[in-house]
Amino acid sequence: MKLRISIFFLFVSFFLGSAFSQSLTPCLYDHAVDLREQANPGYKDRLHRMLDHVASTQGNRNDEVYKIKVVFHVVYKNDVENVSDEALHRQIDVLNACYRRQNEDTINLRDIFWPVAADTKIEFEIDEIRRVKTNANFRPSLVGLPDEVKQSTKGGSDIKDPVKYLNIWVCKMLPIEFAGLSSPVLGYAYPPDSLAHWPAGSAAPQKHLEGVVLDYRTVADSEYEIPNFGSIPMIGRTAVHEVGHYLGLRHISGDAGLFGINCEGTDGVDDTPTQGTQSSFDCDKTQNTCGAGEPGDLPDMIENYMDYSAETCQNTFTKGQAAIMRGVLETLRKGLISHTTKVEELVSNAVIQVIPNPANDYFYVHGLNENANHTLTIFDMMGQSVLSQSITNYTQVSIADLKPGLYLININDSQFKKLIVGK
Ligand SMILES: [Zn+2]
Repeated sequence: MKLRISIFFLFVSFFLGSAFSQSLTPCLYDHAVDLREQANPGYKDRLHRMLDHVASTQGNRNDEVYKIKVVFHVVYKNDVENVSDEALHRQIDVLNACYRRQNEDTINLRDIFWPVAADTKIEFEIDEIRRVKTNANFRPSLVGLPDEVKQSTKGGSDIKDPVKYLNIWVCKMLPIEFAGLSSPVLGYAYPPDSLAHWPAGSAAPQKHLEGVVLDYRTVADSEYEIPNFGSIPMIGRTAVHEVGHYLGLRHISGDAGLFGINCEGTDGVDDTPTQGTQSSFDCDKTQNTCGAGEPGDLPDMIENYMDYSAETCQNTFTKGQAAIMRGVLETLRKGLISHTTKVEELVSNAVIQVIPNPANDYFYVHGLNENANHTLTIFDMMGQSVLSQSITNYTQVSIADLKPGLYLININDSQFKKLIVGK
C-alpha cells in the first residue's frame, strides 16, 4: 500500500500547507515512479542505479551543445486553453535561457553555490506545433496519470516519434482528488527507461506515452490561482523542471518524505546539498533542513529548478545534474540528438533499430524513412513467414501470438534484423 501512503501524504502536506505554509505537491513525477514501482517491484532501485551509471560513465565526455527538437501538442477546449504560438516560442526561450544558464536572474544565486552552477549545454527548438480541440477531461488519479492527452482515440493528440522528438502536451489538467480533497497539478513527466531492462510480464513503460505534460497555465506568463493557497507566479519554469525529470533528474529532496523532514533521502546528485523536504513555493534562503551547524554544511538550494521553491527563485542546475541529463541524452535518449549532432551524423541513416529486443508482446522499428510505408515480414528459424504487415516508422507491431524464440525481421525485402521473443 505504498502508493496510498505517499498519496495520502501528498494530500496531508497540501492541506496542512494551506494552514501552515508547509508545502504543495503539484508535480506528479514521484507518483509516476510510484505507479511503476507498484507494477514492477524493484523498479525504482534499478532506475536509480541505471541513472547513476549513466552519469558516471557519460555526461562529461564532450562539450558539444545538444539540441533537442520539441513537438508541442496543444489539446484545448476553449480559446484560453489554446495557448498561442507566441507563448510556446516564449516557453522555448525560457527553456534555452535556463538550460544554458543565460537567464538574467542567475545573478541571484548565492555565492556558495557558484562553483557547482552549470551551463548544461542543452538547447531546444520547435519542430512542430499540433493543435487538437477536445471534449475530454484530463485528470490524474490515485491509480493513473492523464495519459489520454497523448492518444487521439481518447481525445488527445498522438505522439510524434518519441525517439527523435521531445513531445510536450499542453492541456488543462484537473486537480487530483481523494476523499473529497483536491490538489492542483502543474505537470508531470516519466523518467527515461530502458525498455530492455523490463522483465517479462511487467508493466513496461510504453514509448508512445513518453514526454512531458504541462498545465496550460504554466506556459504563458501568468498567475496560477490555487484555492486555499493563493496565487503562484508562473514564468515558464514548470517546463524546465519537468524536462529535467524527462532527462533523468529527481527532485532535489530526493526520496525525502513529503511530510516532515527526512535527511536520509537523496536525489543521487553529489553537488546538491542534502535537503530533507521540498520547499513551499517560497524563497526562504534561511531554509536548511539537514546538517545545520555541521562543518561544511550548506543551506537548502532553493535556487535549483528541481526544488518546489517559487519559480521566481529558481535559477540554476548543478554540474552533477547536467552530467545526468547529458548522459541520458548520450544513451537512453540518444535519438533526440542523433539528427542534430556531428557525432551522430556519421551514423548511417540506414541504421534500423528494433526496440525493445528481446521483446515480449510488441516492438517498434525505428530508423525508417518517415515519409513512406514499409513492408515488414517476420520469419521463424525454419524460414516460414509468421507475420507480415505494412508499417511506418515507429508503428507498434504486436507479437503477442509468437512463441518465444529467435526470429528474423525483414524490412522491404532487403534489410534483416534479428528478433528475440521472450515471454
Ligand atoms: Zn517534479
